[in-house]
Amino acid sequence: MTAIAEPTFRESVDLMFNRAVSVMDLSPGLEEKIRVCNATYTVRFGVRLRGRIQTFTGYRSVHSEHMEPVKGGIRYSLAVNQDEVEALAALMTYKCALVEAPFGGSKGGLCIDPRQYEEHELERITRRFAYELAKRDLIHPSQNVPAPDMGTGEREMAWIADQYHRMNTTDINANACVTGKPIHAGGIHGRVEATGRGVQYALKEFFRHPEDIAAAGMEGSLDGKRIIVQGLGNVGYHAAKFLSQEDGAKITAVVERDGALIDDNGLDVDAVRNWIASHGGVEGYADATYVADGVSVLEKDCDILIPAALEAVITLQNAARISTKLIIEAANGPITAGADEILRQKGVLVIPDLYANAGGVTVSYFEWVKNLSHIRFGRMQRRQEEARHTLLVAELERLDRYLGDSWSMTPSFKDKYLRGADELELVRSGLDDTMRIAYQSMREVWHARDDVPDLRVAAYIVAIERVALSYRDKGL
Ligand code: GLU
Repeated sequence: MTAIAEPTFRESVDLMFNRAVSVMDLSPGLEEKIRVCNATYTVRFGVRLRGRIQTFTGYRSVHSEHMEPVKGGIRYSLAVNQDEVEALAALMTYKCALVEAPFGGSKGGLCIDPRQYEEHELERITRRFAYELAKRDLIHPSQNVPAPDMGTGEREMAWIADQYHRMNTTDINANACVTGKPIHAGGIHGRVEATGRGVQYALKEFFRHPEDIAAAGMEGSLDGKRIIVQGLGNVGYHAAKFLSQEDGAKITAVVERDGALIDDNGLDVDAVRNWIASHGGVEGYADATYVADGVSVLEKDCDILIPAALEAVITLQNAARISTKLIIEAANGPITAGADEILRQKGVLVIPDLYANAGGVTVSYFEWVKNLSHIRFGRMQRRQEEARHTLLVAELERLDRYLGDSWSMTPSFKDKYLRGADELELVRSGLDDTMRIAYQSMREVWHARDDVPDLRVAAYIVAIERVALSYRDKGL
């Protein structure tokens, strides 16, 4: 038997795009225009480190400028290459369109293993990379707004923002040049947890639709569901934490770089995360069974599988052996196009990446708006809201006294009702609303049309239609 070759990541995204446009009514010219990446910039720069000049290669790809700024993270990994950055930029276009974040798609990457460098070295490398991008407007509040991705976080975003400030000292909107910054450097509450929180909200919305639960061969709610998570980084950790601590789900396995931990009664996510932070991996953790061949644990029986690490982890090689009912793609591109087909034939339901991990860019959008408006969310209305609530509570207290023993206010009501929403609550509310509405827009297309086999095709159709409308309105 000849082995069927696995497509590259970008080819995989194109195949998924093609499957959607094959059931759409777009002109071939527009179809091509939307699919291709507009530009990919490659930069090579030297930094003097440890007594010698080291040369680094970085990329920033702009997939679609139907809306500007374009948006997308910057990844630090040795696996970064042009094909990957272009695939990720394309996904950003569709992701933003699906959740109605008013951006085009972009992505950046630096070919580096950040663990090999000291903090001060990483700062110099990041500032130099930011300089190269900013001088070409590839970092710019109204043209291109990066964010964290794999291997980067608040710290790198603060360096990038500061570098941009230094280069644009009179730009009053300079803070909006990058999102995912620390709070004291213009960030927003809830951005760090946002992608994981979005995965939780996505699953909660899925479980509000009995027809969809049945389509996955499941029943009930998240309570008691057995979940396997691959990758306990920022996204996987927050998703696993919220699902287990707030929704009653059990994290029965965690798959990491150096192996997997299994506990059918449910792992303590915080304890595992702390162990990884102090030991560099999961091996040696006492309260679970350790399996050295971590990837094989993806095939273990469970209700929900959450790949939250790399792309292409469910492939033609292992797709047939995956033993779950539902996969939610917290990572970008964890299922290859070929594996997607196998899973569909097996009846495994997939909640696709462009929807499932859109929580990050959604809260980035809120941060960008906050930076442009120069005021924290809730600052004007919070106390006014509290004052109005106080009036109502005073009336209820009067009623309470008047009715005597026959009625009294629930003790916690007063405190809960009186408190005006702070920024974190507003961010979570905006994210929850976004995830619900985007899910509903996908499922409507999925259920309304016989030629739409799954949520992924539906998600691409919704997103591509919006991008196409925007190009048409511009008079392309
Ligand atoms: N890197 C994240 C993603 O892949 C976030 C992008 C952003 O916030 O712009 O969606």
